[in-house]
Amino acid sequence: MRTITTILFLLFLTNTQAQNLHRCATVEAIRLQEKTHPGYQSAVDRTFDQVKDLVSHKGVNSDSIFRIPVVVHIVYSSPEQNISNDLVYSQIARLNRDYRRLNEDTSDTRTEFLPVAADAGIEFYLAGTDPDGNPSGGITRTQTTRTDFAPDFFGNGLDDVKQSSLDGVDAWDTDNYLNIWVCDLVGSNPLFQIFGFAYPPATAPNWPANSSAPSNELQGVVIHYEVFGDGNPLAVGPLSISDKGRTAVHEVGHYLGLRHIWGDALFTDGCTEDDGIDDTPNASSNAAQVCNFNNNTCVDSPVDFPDMIENYMDYAQDRCMNLFTQGQVDIMRLMLETARTELADGSVEPSSVSDIPSAAEIALFPNPSNGNITIQLPKAEQVNSIRVMDVNGKLVAEQSVSTSLSLLSADWNLPAGTYLLQLQFDGGVVTKKLLVY
Ligand SMILES: [Zn+2]
Repeated sequence: MRTITTILFLLFLTNTQAQNLHRCATVEAIRLQEKTHPGYQSAVDRTFDQVKDLVSHKGVNSDSIFRIPVVVHIVYSSPEQNISNDLVYSQIARLNRDYRRLNEDTSDTRTEFLPVAADAGIEFYLAGTDPDGNPSGGITRTQTTRTDFAPDFFGNGLDDVKQSSLDGVDAWDTDNYLNIWVCDLVGSNPLFQIFGFAYPPATAPNWPANSSAPSNELQGVVIHYEVFGDGNPLAVGPLSISDKGRTAVHEVGHYLGLRHIWGDALFTDGCTEDDGIDDTPNASSNAAQVCNFNNNTCVDSPVDFPDMIENYMDYAQDRCMNLFTQGQVDIMRLMLETARTELADGSVEPSSVSDIPSAAEIALFPNPSNGNITIQLPKAEQVNSIRVMDVNGKLVAEQSVSTSLSLLSADWNLPAGTYLLQLQFDGGVVTKKLLVY
């Protein structure tokens, strides 16, 4: 415990001194898992090395396009945190542009990096069905009583948003969906301004049965709500460094197996720590939230390149990031073929993106109630069904609706407690919290 304390303290202190921002907590999340599941870090490293070995011996099939179904879980306690569908659509569009090298700023890539800048051939779409086969818009909305999901000083609580039992929301089958949780990761703690984190693939671990790290249900990406989406109106002031939705581009890179290009040296000379990818120049530390094209912190051989601050896996500002390298692309594509094999197998239909009301636009009254409630929608809508789940995600009641209505009533005989009411529209699911006394 003492070691965790010391390492986290040093890390956060370093970042606090730099900019008071901690862009990405992926490395810390891995170190925390290593404490509870010794061997996790080496499983991550081994997976990376195996894939790298495959790249050099077998090569990479570069013809196919991988298409990844996404579910975005919006977990909110205020209307501000309950971000709009439009922001979600802008985030998916950003991922698609950047992972296909169709971004608007490829012309900003410096000449010396043009030969290695590459199209990843990976695309993303909102899921059209949930794991039970119900129609979905690929967006879930869950109102929570927690004001934020910021971790404590030791990093504990990073995964709470992924668990209904902790007032977050459970993942959809993580083998078949890329789960992205959007919530307040910053809270009021000025020491931990975390924008996002993700777990990389780790195969064949040797932990005791049922204790793999992190458990499958925790796989996915978490993004702070103020930097989610392209052009989020809340990404202002210090957060304006992340105003183009590239925090998610970066975290999905980790989720697909990439490391930070500066190698995350903790106590050693940063130029000797590498990201394991040959075509990203060495850098002694990260780009420190600025766009400094004069940075050249390490001497490369045979050609001495500047630091590649354009790379999505560095910490420059969104406005000067614009590339993945061919070496990074090879790793991500082979990870999809070997470690996340079901993700892009085409088994999940895309959503027909349609507008559904946000949870904030739907009123329940009375709430708390005795189980006899009225649901008010902003206009007459076809709700296919209303499902009531308990806090453990167990279905306790269900009611189908046959016509388009703006007022729905229901009378359930429910024991006192807290429930999640899921309204299923053609375009997706909206979740409201219901208290029964
Ligand atoms: Zn990162």
